[in-house]
Amino acid sequence: MGVHATAQTAPSLERMIENDTHAIWVAKWRPNQLPMVPHRHDGPTVIVYVRGGAIRTAAGTLETHRKGDVAYFEPGAVLNSGVLESATLVHALIVELKDRPRAFDRRDGQPAAFPRDGAIELLQNDRVTVWDVTYKAALATPFHVHDKLTLIVWLSAGKLIQTFSDGQSIPTSITPGTFIGLPGRLRLSEAASAEMRAIEIEVKP
Ligand SMILES: [Zn+2]
Repeated sequence: MGVHATAQTAPSLERMIENDTHAIWVAKWRPNQLPMVPHRHDGPTVIVYVRGGAIRTAAGTLETHRKGDVAYFEPGAVLNSGVLESATLVHALIVELKDRPRAFDRRDGQPAAFPRDGAIELLQNDRVTVWDVTYKAALATPFHVHDKLTLIVWLSAGKLIQTFSDGQSIPTSITPGTFIGLPGRLRLSEAASAEMRAIEIEVKP
Protein backbone atom coordinates (compact mmCIF):
# COMPACT_ATOMS: atom_id res chain seq x y z
CA MET A 1 0.00 0.00 0.00
CA GLY A 2 0.99 3.66 0.04
CA VAL A 3 4.25 4.38 -1.71
CA HIS A 4 4.39 0.86 -3.15
CA ALA A 5 0.80 0.83 -4.40
CA THR A 6 1.80 0.23 -7.99
CA ALA A 7 4.69 -2.09 -7.19
CA GLN A 8 4.67 -5.54 -5.65
CA THR A 9 2.96 -5.69 -2.29
CA ALA A 10 4.74 -6.85 0.83
CA PRO A 11 4.20 -10.45 1.90
CA SER A 12 1.52 -10.92 4.48
CA LEU A 13 2.35 -12.88 7.63
CA GLU A 14 0.57 -11.54 10.68
CA ARG A 15 0.54 -12.84 14.22
CA MET A 16 -3.04 -13.26 15.41
CA ILE A 17 -2.47 -14.74 18.89
CA GLU A 18 0.45 -15.54 21.13
CA ASN A 19 0.36 -17.03 24.61
CA ASP A 20 2.26 -19.62 26.67
CA THR A 21 0.97 -22.62 24.73
CA HIS A 22 0.68 -21.45 21.15
CA ALA A 23 1.08 -18.73 18.57
CA ILE A 24 -1.20 -18.38 15.54
CA TRP A 25 -0.01 -16.68 12.36
CA VAL A 26 -2.10 -15.79 9.32
CA ALA A 27 -0.26 -16.23 6.03
CA LYS A 28 -1.58 -14.90 2.74
CA TRP A 29 0.16 -15.31 -0.59
CA ARG A 30 -1.31 -12.79 -3.00
CA PRO A 31 -0.78 -12.22 -6.72
CA ASN A 32 2.07 -9.90 -7.67
CA GLN A 33 3.64 -10.20 -4.25
CA LEU A 34 7.25 -10.27 -3.19
CA PRO A 35 8.41 -13.73 -2.06
CA MET A 36 7.76 -14.44 1.59
CA VAL A 37 11.04 -14.59 3.50
CA PRO A 38 11.82 -18.10 4.82
CA HIS A 39 11.32 -18.14 8.57
CA ARG A 40 12.21 -20.51 11.40
CA HIS A 41 9.66 -21.91 13.86
CA ASP A 42 11.23 -22.91 17.18
CA GLY A 43 8.26 -25.04 18.25
CA PRO A 44 6.33 -27.84 16.55
CA THR A 45 4.27 -26.23 13.80
CA VAL A 46 1.02 -27.16 12.09
CA ILE A 47 0.00 -25.41 8.88
CA VAL A 48 -3.67 -25.50 7.88
CA TYR A 49 -4.53 -24.35 4.35
CA VAL A 50 -7.81 -22.41 4.37
CA ARG A 51 -7.68 -21.60 0.66
CA GLY A 52 -5.58 -23.71 -1.66
CA GLY A 53 -3.42 -23.03 -4.67
CA ALA A 54 0.14 -23.29 -5.88
CA ILE A 55 3.23 -21.73 -4.32
CA ARG A 56 6.73 -21.71 -5.83
CA THR A 57 9.19 -22.17 -2.95
CA ALA A 58 12.48 -20.30 -2.72
CA ALA A 59 14.15 -23.64 -3.56
CA GLY A 60 12.24 -23.62 -6.85
CA THR A 61 9.85 -26.49 -6.21
CA LEU A 62 6.14 -26.11 -6.84
CA GLU A 63 3.87 -26.90 -3.89
CA THR A 64 0.17 -27.38 -4.51
CA HIS A 65 -2.18 -27.25 -1.55
CA ARG A 66 -5.90 -27.84 -1.28
CA LYS A 67 -8.32 -26.36 1.21
CA GLY A 68 -8.08 -28.43 4.39
CA ASP A 69 -4.56 -29.70 3.76
CA VAL A 70 -2.56 -29.97 6.98
CA ALA A 71 1.23 -30.21 7.32
CA TYR A 72 3.20 -30.83 10.52
CA PHE A 73 6.79 -29.67 11.05
CA GLU A 74 9.17 -30.62 13.85
CA PRO A 75 10.71 -27.83 15.98
CA GLY A 76 13.26 -25.71 14.19
CA ALA A 77 11.76 -26.08 10.73
CA VAL A 78 12.54 -23.29 8.32
CA LEU A 79 9.46 -22.72 6.22
CA ASN A 80 10.37 -21.61 2.77
CA SER A 81 7.31 -19.64 2.00
CA GLY A 82 8.04 -18.61 -1.56
CA VAL A 83 5.79 -16.84 -3.99
CA LEU A 84 2.28 -17.41 -5.35
CA GLU A 85 1.95 -19.26 -8.66
CA SER A 86 -1.85 -19.44 -8.72
CA ALA A 87 -4.02 -16.64 -10.05
CA THR A 88 -5.72 -16.10 -6.70
CA LEU A 89 -4.93 -15.85 -3.02
CA VAL A 90 -3.59 -18.78 -0.99
CA HIS A 91 -4.49 -18.48 2.70
CA ALA A 92 -3.17 -20.55 5.60
CA LEU A 93 -3.07 -20.44 9.39
CA ILE A 94 0.26 -21.38 10.94
CA VAL A 95 -0.02 -22.82 14.46
CA GLU A 96 3.23 -22.92 16.42
CA LEU A 97 3.17 -24.85 19.68
CA LYS A 98 5.04 -23.61 22.74
CA ASP A 99 4.76 -24.90 26.33
CA ARG A 100 2.65 -28.02 26.72
CA PRO A 101 -0.83 -27.21 28.11
CA ARG A 102 -1.78 -28.56 31.52
CA ALA A 103 -3.41 -31.97 31.68
CA PHE A 104 -7.08 -32.40 32.56
CA ASP A 105 -7.92 -35.82 33.92
CA ARG A 106 -11.69 -35.84 34.44
CA ARG A 107 -14.59 -35.92 32.00
CA ASP A 108 -17.24 -36.75 34.64
CA GLY A 109 -18.42 -39.67 32.56
CA GLN A 110 -19.29 -37.43 29.59
CA PRO A 111 -18.43 -38.44 26.03
CA ALA A 112 -15.16 -37.10 24.69
CA ALA A 113 -15.09 -34.71 21.72
CA PHE A 114 -13.14 -37.25 19.67
CA PRO A 115 -13.38 -39.66 18.03
CA ARG A 116 -16.90 -39.06 16.77
CA ASP A 117 -19.03 -39.29 13.62
CA GLY A 118 -18.02 -36.66 11.10
CA ALA A 119 -14.47 -36.39 12.45
CA ILE A 120 -11.62 -37.90 10.45
CA GLU A 121 -8.22 -38.24 12.13
CA LEU A 122 -5.63 -36.64 9.84
CA LEU A 123 -2.51 -37.09 11.93
CA GLN A 124 -1.34 -37.93 15.40
CA ASN A 125 2.03 -37.64 17.11
CA ASP A 126 3.53 -36.80 20.50
CA ARG A 127 2.21 -33.22 20.45
CA VAL A 128 -1.08 -33.18 18.55
CA THR A 129 -4.02 -35.06 17.15
CA VAL A 130 -5.52 -33.30 14.12
CA TRP A 131 -9.13 -33.90 13.07
CA ASP A 132 -11.01 -32.91 9.90
CA VAL A 133 -14.52 -32.26 11.19
CA THR A 134 -17.76 -31.76 9.27
CA TYR A 135 -20.78 -30.29 11.06
CA LYS A 136 -24.18 -31.01 9.52
CA ALA A 137 -26.56 -28.11 8.90
CA ALA A 138 -28.73 -27.17 11.88
CA LEU A 139 -28.01 -30.44 13.71
CA ALA A 140 -26.50 -29.83 17.13
CA THR A 141 -23.78 -32.23 18.23
CA PRO A 142 -24.49 -34.17 21.43
CA PHE A 143 -22.85 -32.59 24.48
CA HIS A 144 -19.22 -33.68 24.71
CA VAL A 145 -16.10 -32.69 26.59
CA HIS A 146 -13.05 -31.13 24.97
CA ASP A 147 -10.56 -32.38 27.55
CA LYS A 148 -7.54 -30.92 25.76
CA LEU A 149 -6.62 -27.49 24.50
CA THR A 150 -8.28 -27.49 21.05
CA LEU A 151 -7.31 -25.04 18.30
CA ILE A 152 -9.99 -24.82 15.62
CA VAL A 153 -9.47 -23.41 12.12
CA TRP A 154 -12.70 -22.99 10.15
CA LEU A 155 -12.73 -23.75 6.42
CA SER A 156 -16.37 -22.78 5.77
CA ALA A 157 -18.64 -19.80 6.26
CA GLY A 158 -21.79 -19.74 8.38
CA LYS A 159 -23.01 -19.21 11.90
CA LEU A 160 -21.92 -21.42 14.79
CA ILE A 161 -23.79 -21.63 18.07
CA GLN A 162 -21.85 -23.09 21.00
CA THR A 163 -24.02 -24.09 23.96
CA PHE A 164 -22.14 -24.68 27.19
CA SER A 165 -23.05 -26.91 30.14
CA ASP A 166 -24.30 -23.89 32.14
CA GLY A 167 -26.91 -23.24 29.41
CA GLN A 168 -25.15 -20.21 27.96
CA SER A 169 -25.22 -20.05 24.14
CA ILE A 170 -22.67 -18.07 22.15
CA PRO A 171 -23.30 -17.40 18.45
CA THR A 172 -20.25 -16.71 16.27
CA SER A 173 -20.14 -15.68 12.62
CA ILE A 174 -17.60 -17.88 10.89
CA THR A 175 -15.68 -17.22 7.70
CA PRO A 176 -12.90 -19.33 6.18
CA GLY A 177 -9.87 -18.73 8.40
CA THR A 178 -11.80 -17.91 11.58
CA PHE A 179 -9.91 -19.29 14.59
CA ILE A 180 -11.49 -20.49 17.84
CA GLY A 181 -9.42 -21.76 20.76
CA LEU A 182 -11.08 -23.99 23.37
CA PRO A 183 -9.23 -24.36 26.66
CA GLY A 184 -9.17 -27.88 28.07
CA ARG A 185 -12.04 -29.40 30.06
CA LEU A 186 -14.91 -27.64 28.36
CA ARG A 187 -18.32 -29.32 27.93
CA LEU A 188 -20.44 -28.07 25.09
CA SER A 189 -22.63 -28.75 22.08
CA GLU A 190 -22.18 -27.07 18.69
CA ALA A 191 -24.76 -26.29 16.01
CA ALA A 192 -23.83 -24.96 12.56
CA SER A 193 -26.19 -23.01 10.29
CA ALA A 194 -24.97 -24.86 7.21
CA GLU A 195 -22.74 -27.82 6.51
CA MET A 196 -19.45 -26.49 7.83
CA ARG A 197 -15.96 -27.92 7.97
CA ALA A 198 -13.12 -27.23 10.41
CA ILE A 199 -9.66 -28.54 11.18
CA GLU A 200 -9.44 -29.14 14.95
CA ILE A 201 -6.02 -29.52 16.56
CA GLU A 202 -6.00 -31.21 19.96
CA VAL A 203 -2.81 -30.29 21.80
CA LYS A 204 -1.44 -33.00 24.07
CA PRO A 205 -0.38 -32.12 27.63
ZN1 LIG B 1 -16.87 -29.88 20.14
